[in-house]
Amino acid sequence: MPSHCILILLDGLGDRSFSCLGYKTPLQAAHTPHLDTLARIGANGLFHADRPGMALPSENAHFSLFGYELDEFPGRGALESLGAGVEISVDDVAVLAHLASVKVKDNTLILQKGRPDASSDVISALIQDIFYYEYEEIKFCFKHTSGLNGILILKGTVSPYFTDSDPVLEGNCLIEIQPLQDFEKDLAAIKTVRALKKYLIWCHKKLSGNQANSIKNSRGAVPINALVTQRPGRLKTVQSFKNRWGFKGLSISSGLIYWGLSAFLGIDVMKARETDNIEGDFAERLKLAMESKNKYDFIHVHTKAPDVAAHTKNPYAKIAAIEALDRGLGKIIDSLLNDKESLIIITSDHSTPSSGKLVHSGEPVPLLIVGEGVRRDSIKSFDEVNCAGGSLGFVHGKEFMYLVLNYLDRAKLTGLMDTPVDQAFWPGETKPFRLDL
Ligand SMILES: [Zn+2]
Repeated sequence: MPSHCILILLDGLGDRSFSCLGYKTPLQAAHTPHLDTLARIGANGLFHADRPGMALPSENAHFSLFGYELDEFPGRGALESLGAGVEISVDDVAVLAHLASVKVKDNTLILQKGRPDASSDVISALIQDIFYYEYEEIKFCFKHTSGLNGILILKGTVSPYFTDSDPVLEGNCLIEIQPLQDFEKDLAAIKTVRALKKYLIWCHKKLSGNQANSIKNSRGAVPINALVTQRPGRLKTVQSFKNRWGFKGLSISSGLIYWGLSAFLGIDVMKARETDNIEGDFAERLKLAMESKNKYDFIHVHTKAPDVAAHTKNPYAKIAAIEALDRGLGKIIDSLLNDKESLIIITSDHSTPSSGKLVHSGEPVPLLIVGEGVRRDSIKSFDEVNCAGGSLGFVHGKEFMYLVLNYLDRAKLTGLMDTPVDQAFWPGETKPFRLDL
């Protein structure tokens, strides 16, 4: 039986069908001999991290995939803070925030460009103007992370229960900040909303008058004159991945959100190289996983490439990214095929449509599991349509981690109580029975 699991996660892999591809998805249309080889020797199925049709961001989908519930989720802002090494306390609120270009119309702000082009010098000059603010004893601190992006940390008597100001879609109005329905009378939420609105208006004024924008305007470029916010959150205490599933975990990934999520769950991180070479970066991550497999029970090998390609809304770009990943997989396929100790799982966190206005979409993603003892079905091609006919059926959310426990011979027979906590894995860290009283 395999002793550990290597989860190869191809972010945003699922997609829709395109007439220009003969009504195939980019994954169906891509030439993927190595993924197909694994599909032929394993069990295949579909996966959705929550309910089919729900469009999930990577952080929520991963959270569910790793076997956690939505009410344990601390918010993306809080996770990115952890990933960036920004210290926040459990009383602080962390909000995702980024600089954007807006136009004033009838006393509202229209999102002109969500992420306009800007040099790092211009971005630094703009952030210098807005990085700190105080209103009614609430302190705002904007921590820059990358490009136009950052995390807004709120300190004081603050609440994370309020709406976004970022409409996401260009041409739409920025959204009024309001307390969430259940917190309309909550004093902390009311105060937070009032102070955040003041801060965002102040940011708009400061950024509009910034010298860097005057230079941009004179060159005909859109100004960067607003800060928009979304997905507030706050740190919580959750059971570690090791205590919940009995696995020592490792994530080989790039990106603050994966590092933050791992830090939150007590999963070790190996920060991976990220260049324009999708094939080379992916092959290196897989090689690192194979080198680490004897030190960990569960290794998450992540690539953002399919998701990034799909966000360009070009299905051919996604095909190219998928084919590059398949070539990267080809560099270690022989060692994977000869490896009796590893359970190999390939899936994705969500679908990212290469057309239309949705950021992510709700179709399920393909799932394949290969390893000693795993049933082999008749599926010959790893894609969204063929895998639907596979022996795994449709796997939802937390069911995924139970499958991993099962295939690693770590699933507890329901009813056995070897520890005071009714945990899913077996054997637990048991206390020996002693003869002395
Ligand atoms: Zn995405």
